[in-house]
Amino acid sequence: METDYLIVGAGFFGAVIANKIASELKKKVLIVEKRDHIGGNCYSKIDEETGIEHHVYGTHIFHTNSKNVFEYLSQFTEFNSYYHQVLTTHNDRVYQMPINLETINSFYGVNLKPFEVDDFLAEEKAKEQYPKPKNLEEKAISLIGRPLYEAFIKGYTQKQWQKDPSELPASIINRLPVRNNYDESYFNNGRYQGIPLDGYTAIFERMLDHELITVKTSTDYFSIKDKITVNEKTIYSGPIDLYFNYTHGHLDWRSVRFERVVSPYKDFQGTSVMNFADESPAYTRIHEPRHLHPERNYTESQSLLFYEYSETNPEEPYYPVNNQENKVKLERYQELAKKEEKVLFGGRLGTYSYYDMDQVIGQALSLFETQIKS
Ligand SMILES: Cc1cc2nc3c(=O)[nH]c(=O)nc-3n(C[C@H](O)[C@H](O)[C@H](O)COP(=O)(O)OP(=O)(O)OC[C@H]3O[C@@H](n4cnc5c(N)ncnc54)[C@H](O)[C@@H]3O)c2cc1C
Repeated sequence: METDYLIVGAGFFGAVIANKIASELKKKVLIVEKRDHIGGNCYSKIDEETGIEHHVYGTHIFHTNSKNVFEYLSQFTEFNSYYHQVLTTHNDRVYQMPINLETINSFYGVNLKPFEVDDFLAEEKAKEQYPKPKNLEEKAISLIGRPLYEAFIKGYTQKQWQKDPSELPASIINRLPVRNNYDESYFNNGRYQGIPLDGYTAIFERMLDHELITVKTSTDYFSIKDKITVNEKTIYSGPIDLYFNYTHGHLDWRSVRFERVVSPYKDFQGTSVMNFADESPAYTRIHEPRHLHPERNYTESQSLLFYEYSETNPEEPYYPVNNQENKVKLERYQELAKKEEKVLFGGRLGTYSYYDMDQVIGQALSLFETQIKS
């Protein structure tokens, strides 16, 4: 088989580049995807039992400050007016996240004004000082004081990493955002924000619906690569360490698992994502996707829930582990990647980076302009 461009992975990185090559360069694109669907980790589908659309790999909220990315994506979808906020449950009470003035006032039972917060927290931090924090626990206490750390960070971090924060490197957190006001919006880059009106999968269907694009799902690149002649370039958005057959070892990933539950209540928790800050229960979050589409007025009397658990599962890479060991391995893989003249690496797996959707789309648009079109 012959193609001008071969693209590995039908997530946003691969789909944007495929669309640009076909529509602007008028060249043939073959896109191979090892899963049985397009959309990568942004894949959405309707749950058959409840009729509710959900995001199979975890709740995805589109948000960006980039007009360029927003306008590009708007060719393929409209967005609803969903606006993301995150709540967390601690000791059977619900608080706003990230920590803001409402969180602090409810938690301490005080009524601080914005200009009083810094002094209040400085007093808390002074009670226990770590000028050179040796681990995540000391770092977090030095940033927000022990009570807020124990309520909102300790148990959640322990569940996320399956390790006590005192055994985790301080470098995992640079800062813990604390807002001195009542701003409860989750994203600080939320100039454009929402959920695609017809779900994410519809965006991918529209992007890839072009006579010059062939999509092969359930197809692993490594099983077909020797059977395909690529005239121009391969664009690879799979794991970079796998591409080089783990020559420098495996890059570590943190993973998550979702347990599907149908709730007998039409509205179970009143919001799309509820965090659970304490060590118990074992899940980190409950997702209730009906809240992502307020415009749909779902009539079902049941609701669909997903309980999220953190775990280590190399088969489902979700979040890169940014420690020194992985940094060194990644640099070695990047050196190897530079030598592959006919292959371009990108996307979250190809660069071993956590990227939000808008960043991956921006990366794909820029790679197209600088390394494919020119
Ligand atoms: C739990 C979670 C929640 C998130 N929530 C948000 C959010 O709210 N907002 C936001 O902006 N971003 C969010 N993100 C980030 C978002 O998922 C990524 O930005 C996006 O998926 C990256 O797209 P991609 O194309 O780089 O990677 P992917 O979407 O992972 O696509 C890569 C594709 O390559 C395929 N592939 C890999 N190897 C091979 C192979 N050998 N052969 C063929 N195919 C292969 C994979 O199967 C996959 O489909 C979240 C991420 C996670 C983990």
